[in-house]
Amino acid sequence: MARPTNVLLSRDHLLHNIALIQNKIGGTRIIAMVKANAYGHGIRSVSKRIAPVIHMFGVASLDEALILRSIGLTNPIMLAEGVFEPEEWAVAAHHHCDVVIHHQTQIQWLDALEPHQKVRIWLKINTGMNRLGFFPHDIPKVYALLRHNPRIQGDIGLMSHFASSEQPYSVKTTQQAAAFKDIVGSIPNFSGPVSLCNSGGIVNRENDLYDYVRPGLLMYGVHPYHYAMGQDFGLRPVMTLKSQLISVYTVKSQDTVGYNETYSCPESMPIGIIAIGYGDGYPLTARNGTPILVNGTICPLIGRVAMDMLAVDLRPCPRAKVGDSATLWGENLPIETIASFTQEHSHALLTGLHNRVRCFWTDDHTDSQVST
Ligand SMILES: *Cc1c(COP(=O)(O)O)cnc(C)c1O
Repeated sequence: MARPTNVLLSRDHLLHNIALIQNKIGGTRIIAMVKANAYGHGIRSVSKRIAPVIHMFGVASLDEALILRSIGLTNPIMLAEGVFEPEEWAVAAHHHCDVVIHHQTQIQWLDALEPHQKVRIWLKINTGMNRLGFFPHDIPKVYALLRHNPRIQGDIGLMSHFASSEQPYSVKTTQQAAAFKDIVGSIPNFSGPVSLCNSGGIVNRENDLYDYVRPGLLMYGVHPYHYAMGQDFGLRPVMTLKSQLISVYTVKSQDTVGYNETYSCPESMPIGIIAIGYGDGYPLTARNGTPILVNGTICPLIGRVAMDMLAVDLRPCPRAKVGDSATLWGENLPIETIASFTQEHSHALLTGLHNRVRCFWTDDHTDSQVST
């Protein structure tokens, strides 16, 4: 028998979440963020399943875009960080990518493109996050410069990204939204596509949706706020992380469990060992008390997470035995809750899963069930 450490994925939940987002945003279109292996869910199998119901894909690199093209997907693809070297311009143009330009250097690299090789571009504006983008006061100049470049196809897009949209009443977000609106309004006769909101923005900036939103987390069923749950928004978790008890026994009072003796048993008690650890992507920073569902009952994690295993207090579930199932996050155990017991965000938990965890689609028999 194989090691029982698996991710179960739900196509129904994925499509439900996208329908919910679309319902919330009305006529605005979706750029589905499938970067980082679709947040750990498998870029090929996720993208294939959602291609008919989203408009564009969003990825972090040309490599990720080429994966989508290699499986025959024809939706537009946004390269959210643009090109990383001059040669990428021609490949991006050939594969019909929408390329974000965030720096002067990328504009200089455009010269590597023959004028007949046309490409769609978006200008990224740094409205206050100070990660990527041109400052608002540089945009009119950059826009004017690019507008007549023969290599550019169609209307130039404008976009920006929020620093704190996962906080519902952030002053920073309000300032960024205002700065963005100003710059969009300041370009004479501007008629290109506009995009501002990630998941947090979709939830709390409903007047700033523009033409395209860029959900990541929401599609996967996870709420962007630190203290809210996807289910409060009507979302359903796409990923459920599962394993099994591989050892069950009783430990004496005062005995310690695991590396560095970080948990001491208050009484003689049943404990279980589950086949999952930080070598699978379960967070090392999960503290004593992090909930784990054993046979549907919440039991607390005890001791330090090891590379391949962790220990659980089985007092709430004393009849548990070897082979019983354990859910680490997902269905009936929100990943948002798990994140709150760690030093990680849900984004990092999802994308942190390692290769040796096998991923399966559970409610989709039309296609390969192994997620890739
Ligand atoms: C990752 C990313 C998103 C999606 O962010 P979520 O918070 O997961 O919705 C949107 N826009 C850009 C530019 C990104 O890099």
